[in-house]
Parts: sequence; C-alpha cells; structure tokens
Amino acid sequence: MKRSDVRSNRVGRAMLATGGVTIAYRAVVEFTCVQCAGTIAPGALFSRKSRRTPPGVFGLTATDPICTTCQPLRLQDNGETETAATDAREE
Ligand SMILES: [Zn+2]
Repeated sequence: MKRSDVRSNRVGRAMLATGGVTIAYRAVVEFTCVQCAGTIAPGALFSRKSRRTPPGVFGLTATDPICTTCQPLRLQDNGETETAATDAREE
C-alpha cells in the first residue's frame, strides 16, 4: 500500500453542464487545472479530463485535473447537489 499516492478522493458521478457524465474528485493536495492553470485547492471539487496516451506508453497518468470553473459539475450520487462552480466563477 502506498499512502503517499492518495492525492484525491473519488466523490462519485457528476453531471457536466454539457449533459455528459464524469467522475468528480475532491482534492487532497493542490492541483493545477490543465485548462486555465488555476489552482485546485485541497478540499475542492474537480474532475479529470481524459487524455489519450500514446500506444505503448503505460503507467503514465491518462487524465488531467480540471477545475469546476472550466468544467462545472453537479454531483449525482446521494441526491446531493453541490454546485461548487457557481460562485467560483470569475470573469
Ligand atoms: Zn480551470
């Protein structure tokens, strides 16, 4: 077991503004959003953006963290409605 590998907790399924479904995570350590380069603070909700890994490459991360400002989430599980993106938006 590698405790040091725990950098995020899986929260559950979340709905995207686009109508798609993704997996929501809660940050344990600080992440950087791949889209806006903003900080995803520990405890903040975020999702991951799929990225194709080149054929033959194994063991590298295939998903990039993306913040709720870039990709708003609505949690589906437990009937919980967490809208972290709504008031975090800055223009
Ligand atoms: Zn972002």
